[in-house]
Amino acid sequence: MANDQPSTTPDWRWHDENGFRRVVNVAGTMTGLGASVAPAPEVSRETAAATERFVDMHELQALASTTITELTGAEAGCLTASAGAGISLAVAACITGLDPARVEALPLNPGPKSGVAVQMGHLCEYGSSITTGVALAGANVRVAGTATLCKDFQLSAVLDENTAAALYVVSHHVVHYGQIPFERFARLAHEKGVPVIVDAASEYDLRGFIEKGADLVIYSGHKFLGGPTSGIIAGRRDLVRACYLQNIGIGRGMKIGKESIMGAIAAMRAWMKRDHAAIRARETAALELWRKALSDLPGISAYRVPDPTGNPLERLQVDVDPEKAGAGAPVITAALGRRDPAIIVRGHEAELGYFQLDPCNLLPGHAELVAAALRDEISRGAWEEIDPEEALASARNGGTEGYLRWLGNG
Ligand SMILES: *Cc1c(COP(=O)(O)O)cnc(C)c1O
Repeated sequence: MANDQPSTTPDWRWHDENGFRRVVNVAGTMTGLGASVAPAPEVSRETAAATERFVDMHELQALASTTITELTGAEAGCLTASAGAGISLAVAACITGLDPARVEALPLNPGPKSGVAVQMGHLCEYGSSITTGVALAGANVRVAGTATLCKDFQLSAVLDENTAAALYVVSHHVVHYGQIPFERFARLAHEKGVPVIVDAASEYDLRGFIEKGADLVIYSGHKFLGGPTSGIIAGRRDLVRACYLQNIGIGRGMKIGKESIMGAIAAMRAWMKRDHAAIRARETAALELWRKALSDLPGISAYRVPDPTGNPLERLQVDVDPEKAGAGAPVITAALGRRDPAIIVRGHEAELGYFQLDPCNLLPGHAELVAAALRDEISRGAWEEIDPEEALASARNGGTEGYLRWLGNG
């Protein structure tokens, strides 16, 4: 949207007119902050054009399939409401195939072959638990291994005649050691005739998992791709068709509208044409601006770190020495979030003594605003009213508390 504006002054008119809190997102593609902004004007244009017309939805989804095929190299694809929805639909597809009666029987009567094998270290949460996403299809999670270790035999033991699918999660949210690597996981599953679903919601690698044997891969349309809220399912034609058929069953409540389909197609096309090197250079410039802004503050050391799952992206890690800085990373994270505009940093590992700044999707003027706010907040250092233990608890529980507080108090 605003990416092509030359202005370097933040534009808050929309927030102010609607009475919304001014928010600067340096946390990453957080769905709680609206996930992303459109990367190209075509996304808003295609979305708007669709809202004003009738169309045969099967044709729209066929165009989506063609675009997904081009983007991922998969045989076919379809769109749904979100990546979260995609996980439920993919699991359902592996249970029902193309039998409409079996589709309609979900989630209550999935039949005996309804197990989904997952390594315990992959049972993560992305706003809700992935276990819930699997269970919505009527499936039951068959856990392999322990939190930090999964052995081949432990996976093989849950790949039996009652296993409909094996689910592999690629994310910074999962445990990063002691897990079976993807190609080996897929081989073990395929040896038992079990199809492999990959949750790659936030992964820029749009072709690798298909190339390495995934049967279905799920991406989020509204994270790095910058599309409207949507989920992309790519994979084997028979299984993608079975995902789409879930629209007569559990998929009904996960339906995607014509405007989001056209917006997601535009976002995928924009991704294929995008000057990725130029965007990377702009992101690196923001990281360097922030690194310099923090360079002489006591107790603070800032440096660039690569993305943990190998996405072509760096973030600025800010290590905080509480003795010298006056407070630890959880308190500083909370203090930045209380400013106006609120500076929302990537603080989910604050208990380890650092927070991170994510340069994706910066709007005009926001990089400079963040640099000034960081210096101002950290050099001021008056945070007596923020309890460190509560700051950490609130970061951990905030997702739930926010929902509970909504429209609350009377
Ligand atoms: C964000 C995320 C999801 C959910 O994506 P939505 O499109 O917002 O539903 C699922 N899995 C992982 C690993 C994620 O990071």
